[in-house]
Amino acid sequence: MPRSARVPQVHKFGGASLANAEAMAHAVTIVLAHRPGPIVVVVSALAGVTDALLDIAAKAARGDGRGLRSAAAALRRRHIEIARALFTGARRKELIACVDEAFEELKPLGGAPAMLREMTPRTTDYLLARGERLSARLFAAALEQTGCPVEYVPAVNLIKTDDTFGHASADLARTERAVRKTLGRLLARGVVAVVPGFVGATPDGQIATLGRGGSDLTATLLARALRAREVSLWKDVPGVLTADPKVVPDARVVPQLHVREAAELAYYGAKVLHPRALIPLVKRNIAVRIRPFANPASQGTEISQRRTLQAYPVKAISAIPGQALLTVTGNGMLGVPGVAARTFAAVQQAGISVSLISQASSEHSICFSVPAASAARARASLRETFRSEIERREIDSVEVRAGVVAIAIVGLGMAETPGIAARAFSALADAGINVVAIAQGSSELNLSIVVDGRNGAAAQRAVHAAFQLNKIDGGAVGPRRTDIVLLGLGHIGRALGAMIAQTRLDGVALRVVGVIDRSGFVFDAGGLSARRLAILAAAKKRGAPLAKAGQHGTASQAIAFMAGHALSNPVLVDVTAEDTAEVIVAAFAAGMHVVLANKRPLTGPKRVYDAIAAAAAAHGRQLRFEATVGAGLPIIDTYHKLAESGDRVSRIEACPSGTLGHLFGELGRGRRFSEALRGAIAKGYPEPDPRDDLSGMDVARKALILGRLLGFRGELDDIEVESLVPKQARGIPLKAFLERLDEWDDAWLERVEAARARGGVLRYRAVATRRRIRVGLVVVDASSPLASLNGTDNQFIFTTMRYKKNPLVITGPGAGPAVTAGGILNDVLKLTSG
Ligand code: ADP
Ligand code: ASP
Ligand code: MG
Repeated sequence: MPRSARVPQVHKFGGASLANAEAMAHAVTIVLAHRPGPIVVVVSALAGVTDALLDIAAKAARGDGRGLRSAAAALRRRHIEIARALFTGARRKELIACVDEAFEELKPLGGAPAMLREMTPRTTDYLLARGERLSARLFAAALEQTGCPVEYVPAVNLIKTDDTFGHASADLARTERAVRKTLGRLLARGVVAVVPGFVGATPDGQIATLGRGGSDLTATLLARALRAREVSLWKDVPGVLTADPKVVPDARVVPQLHVREAAELAYYGAKVLHPRALIPLVKRNIAVRIRPFANPASQGTEISQRRTLQAYPVKAISAIPGQALLTVTGNGMLGVPGVAARTFAAVQQAGISVSLISQASSEHSICFSVPAASAARARASLRETFRSEIERREIDSVEVRAGVVAIAIVGLGMAETPGIAARAFSALADAGINVVAIAQGSSELNLSIVVDGRNGAAAQRAVHAAFQLNKIDGGAVGPRRTDIVLLGLGHIGRALGAMIAQTRLDGVALRVVGVIDRSGFVFDAGGLSARRLAILAAAKKRGAPLAKAGQHGTASQAIAFMAGHALSNPVLVDVTAEDTAEVIVAAFAAGMHVVLANKRPLTGPKRVYDAIAAAAAAHGRQLRFEATVGAGLPIIDTYHKLAESGDRVSRIEACPSGTLGHLFGELGRGRRFSEALRGAIAKGYPEPDPRDDLSGMDVARKALILGRLLGFRGELDDIEVESLVPKQARGIPLKAFLERLDEWDDAWLERVEAARARGGVLRYRAVATRRRIRVGLVVVDASSPLASLNGTDNQFIFTTMRYKKNPLVITGPGAGPAVTAGGILNDVLKLTSG
């Protein structure tokens, strides 16, 4: 056997993974796949068993004999069921006897309440140990029946601890000796050792547990003693995630973490790893792998001495909920040595652990957090310690602020990257979250921020987004979701809703979660169906505002409300025709991407345009606006592709109005102006007041959007626009205008004739360059691509460095709800890929 094959491997199966017989069998196949090298298997109690045993201990302490007996019976049944499902014959009998024996021992607890009311940590540990003992027994038998040589090794023979019952610390040297003596020969013979996790033996041989989640520690202790190179911790998650997936749905797997980063996360509440599990690995070159039980082929997360992912100064965040902040304040603390030491000694004496400390440089106050349940005791202990200082008014007060959450932002790269704290704080400020306290360890590996409990989840999401942790490429937790919020609900919004319902994408789920109008909004984090959207749109058409079906509020309030929920990759889609710049900036600040079909925000003052772009950049969000110029045609996309590939676009010429295109097509065919316009209105092409199209302003806005891409620095007013609305028709009511349409027929006939006489056709055209934008009526030569335009088609002609003599032409339908919704959908899809 090559040497590397003789290096022992340690595999630990967590309780969450071992839920039933099927899961147990799956764990067996994982172990078999790693044979024939030497293997040690550590198992946790079956899912939920430790909690159930703790409940039994509580019942015993209360003297609740009846409750205890029924809880114990249920737990026994669970184990027996698994034994029955996995085994037959003699082996089944043997295991059932083993389960019975474990529960037999519980009987006296229920029988003699008075005596057993004292459930000391020692007796509790004794009780708890049977959870892992039974699962290890079951596991060893299940592995053995495949023909694999196996031995069950009691944890007390291997793991040596101190006598802190409930959270014992391991004695590394004694453990190492015991492990080598007991397991060395076994492994050399090719026998797989199966060891219960979580427990060890005190110096006088009593059973003690290592603290909740302690099986992780058992595994790393064994790995250290055996000089293993790798420990696999099989869990119900795909690896260590950038955040708790229950709070941040965008959380991603971190492919690799440095040991110090992982330790920091574990200490600060990331429940995925026991806080002390990494201690045995200090100065040993042993990698820990957090691996997905459901997908053994996946790499999960490697925790090792390597430093990777340098592009991410922050790699993950974690949170400790249910904290209270204590602040000791007073002038008497200034420059007085030992106040801090006495403060923490007082807390320690009360047996309370402090998770975060911050002291203002003025030394006027010391502030630290403890579990909320211990806050009152900590305060009493402090008041006692500083009794005389308080009497002398040197210390003003010991204040408690309960209900706070400590959020840890962790990453080794933070030390070398300036501005991390600023980025975190501005993300929180933008999300409207107040920071109660902060602390940064001197290692600069962890920035801790305390916020009010109410804001805990939103704060984690804001920080996660600010550091773009959803881009770390270890894979997503589930199928990726993109949540869309619609601003405006008309034809386009409805078409989009229907289109989304029909979009089937591999690994990406799209849904509309909210709709906003002027009155308020409707929101459902679970998604609004196409049917629901159609009903809302129909109601709106009948004049019922959204607030009637949902809530009142401004668009910015709606965005703040929605951002407070666990949205995944949120995108605001603006299909209004209003000045929504402010809302868009608020959406960026709330961590949303923005897709526009609305031209207004991009065609207002240049200052506003720049502010929108700056807000997107500041929050690392994207602004996409394909649908603003050519509906579904790839115009902006083409521009970017050319620019990215090093080409330079010098000029864009376009007929970007479906309405005017249709009109001039009809005029060219000899139709009268009034007839042609009425026909267009009947088909629903123009704006409600067709003069908005005839005035050229719509084309001018499109031209301005294109011009600004090319670097045009001017305003809408700087565009030379030729209006097609006759002077007499400007200012009169719409109705009067429509009635008087015939009056202008003759003038139009003349124009069309004159163009024809010159061998050309009339077109309403925009030309944009970096310096100048013009919009107006021209006669184009019959040979020009513009002359061939048909119906409502649009055309865009790019003149670039590469496409100079023969420009690049894009032609196609450029108006209507369906193609516009298609353009929006394309933009949204670009945002789902990362
Ligand atoms: P085990 O089954 O080994 O005991 P745990 O239950 O201790 O596993 O750890 C996995 C759990 O940790 C997950 O179910 C998940 O909810 C939680 N968790 C919290 N933070 C994270 C994180 N950053 N990455 C992965 N899981 C996390
Ligand atoms: N079974 C113990 C617990 O639930 C230990 C472990 O799972 O690691 O805390
Ligand atoms: Mg655990």
